[in-house]
Amino acid sequence: MKIVKKISLLRKDLTLLRRKGGRIGFVPTMGYLHEGHLSLVRQAKKDNDIVVVSIFVNPLQFAPNEDFRHYPRDLKRDAKLLKGFCDILFAPSSDELYRKDFCSSVEVKGTDEALCGLSRKGHFTGVSTVVAKLFNIVLADNAYFGRKDAQQAAVIKKMVSDLDFPVKVHVLPIVREKDGLAMSSRNTYLTIEERRQAVVLFQALRSAERMAAGGIRDSAKIRQALEDFIGHTPSARIDYIEIADARTLAPLARIEKDALLLLAVYIGKTRLIDNTLLKVKKLAVTSGY
Ligand code: AMP
Repeated sequence: MKIVKKISLLRKDLTLLRRKGGRIGFVPTMGYLHEGHLSLVRQAKKDNDIVVVSIFVNPLQFAPNEDFRHYPRDLKRDAKLLKGFCDILFAPSSDELYRKDFCSSVEVKGTDEALCGLSRKGHFTGVSTVVAKLFNIVLADNAYFGRKDAQQAAVIKKMVSDLDFPVKVHVLPIVREKDGLAMSSRNTYLTIEERRQAVVLFQALRSAERMAAGGIRDSAKIRQALEDFIGHTPSARIDYIEIADARTLAPLARIEKDALLLLAVYIGKTRLIDNTLLKVKKLAVTSGY
C-alpha cells in the first residue's frame, strides 16, 4: 500500500492505473478506522482492481463549537489496518485540499432544514464540497459509504445525480459492536459508564422495529414511546427522533411502507447517530378459498 499526500502524485498514479484498464473503488473517511470503515474497504476490494481510501478530517464540515480539534487521528494505526485491502491511502493536509484562496462550495439545497442539518448548520455543505473535490481527484468508478450516516449518503447520492458525477455510489449496512452500538470513531469519547449507557440508541431502534412490525403506523406514537424509553437513561439527551421516507428522508406522519427511523442522541457530551429500517408487513392476499 502506498501513502500519498499530494493531489498531483495521486493523479499521476491513478492515470497510469486507469490506462491499464483498472476499475477504481474509493472509500472517503475521516480516519481512526474501525470495522465499519473496513467493511466498505473490503467491498471496494471485491468490486474493483484498485482501492483508494482517503483519510481527511475535513474542517469545512465542523462548526466552530464542534470537535474538529479533538477528533481522533492516528495515520500509522490506520495504515496498518488498511494493509492488504487498500492500494493507495490518500492523506492530504488541509492546505493541500484547501489552498489559501479557496472560496467555492457545493450545496445540496435543503440539507440544513432536516435531521442532522438542523443542529449542524453548514455541515452537509462541508461534506458535499469535500466529497465533490475528492471525486474529481480520484475519478473512481465506484464509491462506498455507510448507511450509518444515512442523511450523508442521501446528500451524496443527490449531488452525484444532480451534477452527473460519473461514479456509482454504494451504501452498505451498519456495522455494530457486540451489544448493538453502531461503530463510530466518536465512541472513543465515551467514558466507561457512558459507553454502557450508549446502547440505549440500539435498544430504542429495536423497540421501534417491534412496534412497526406489530402494526403501529402512527409515527408520533412510536416517537413518543422512544422519547420515554431514552429518557430513562441518565446521560442521554435527545437531539431528534424522526421517521422518514427511506429514499427522500422526508418526514412521515404514518408508516404506510418501509420507512427509516433516524436518531441523534447526546450521551454526555458525545453526539451519536443511528438508524434502522422499519419494515411494514404486507397484508397476506387470500385467494378466497
Ligand atoms: P467517517 O470516517 O465517520 O467520515 O466515515 C467514513 C465512512 O464510513 C462513511 O461513509 C460512514 O457512513 C462509514 N461508516 C462509519 N461508521 C460505520 C459503521 N458503523 N458501519 C458502516 N459504515 C460506517
